[in-house]
Amino acid sequence: MSAIRIDGKTLSAELREKLKERVNALKARGITPGLAVILVGEDEASKIYVRNKENGCEEIGVKSFSYRLPETATQSELEELIKKLNKDENVNGILVQLPLPNGLDEQKALALIDAKKDVDGFHIENMGKLLIGTEGVVACTPKGAMYMIRSTGIDLSGKHAVVIGRSNIVGKPMSVLLLGANCTVTMCHSRTQNLKEFTKTADILVAAVGKAKFITADMVKPGAVVIDVGINRVDGKVVGDVDYDSVSEVAGYITPVPGGVGKMTITMLLDNTVEAAERYA
Ligand code: NDP
Repeated sequence: MSAIRIDGKTLSAELREKLKERVNALKARGITPGLAVILVGEDEASKIYVRNKENGCEEIGVKSFSYRLPETATQSELEELIKKLNKDENVNGILVQLPLPNGLDEQKALALIDAKKDVDGFHIENMGKLLIGTEGVVACTPKGAMYMIRSTGIDLSGKHAVVIGRSNIVGKPMSVLLLGANCTVTMCHSRTQNLKEFTKTADILVAAVGKAKFITADMVKPGAVVIDVGINRVDGKVVGDVDYDSVSEVAGYITPVPGGVGKMTITMLLDNTVEAAERYA
């Protein structure tokens, strides 16, 4: 069997066309959606992510405001900037690129962002809303991954979904979204024993581990939907957590890396920004 590739580039392109229309509708009402992107320090990967996000804004007509703070920035400098942006009517979304340099408190900084402008969906208010199932901002990566799963058209109700990874930004919200879609959800992590016993029974398998080619064909149920969240740099190349070549011989659907979940993450950030501007309007 050769799996159907769930192409993040194609899905993103379709979504971005719809986003452009929503942005134009807002502009017709005198509102240009704005995203403030804060980058602290010199982390090379973060610089690439930030550039991609700013390019995404430009593509669909969202105004991006760039704030670059030096590695030596203090917690209070960062917090003052967030407070200023909370009050700025031209800014609908605020994004603090993570990780922050050592010595800065991420959770304290994120908690200061106005929850309505928290386009990353990391604020405890939005995380809490997700957990209890009321409307809030959903974190971009799980939201994008969920969109990709739904794009298969498979009825998710009663399916066994296995999420590997329990981080606050991917694994936990991903599990809650799958639960909300009536999947039976198993969460696995580094202390899980006999991981393969779980993955082998997964109708939907989400890998958010951070280990290159960690998921191999023998761990996958034939016909499963395999979502690869991982971004790992090996010998200058970006590879996922899934061994794409072997797993695509077993799975029913699979996302590539690059051109998969990463692409969708940025599109969902744009979606959250446009949604924030629509709420403001
Ligand atoms: P974290 O490092 O925060 O979490 C990794 C998770 O994997 C942890 O829960 C850890 O378990 C678990 N894990 C580690 N080793 C094993 C193992 N041997 N068996 C089972 N579970 C294991 O990473 P993130 O969630 O932030 O990111 C995961 C991956 O996704 C990374 O490659 C990251 O770069 C990528 N990513 C991609 C994004 C995108 O846009 N595509 C966005 C965000 C992240 P434990 O909790 O026990 O330590």
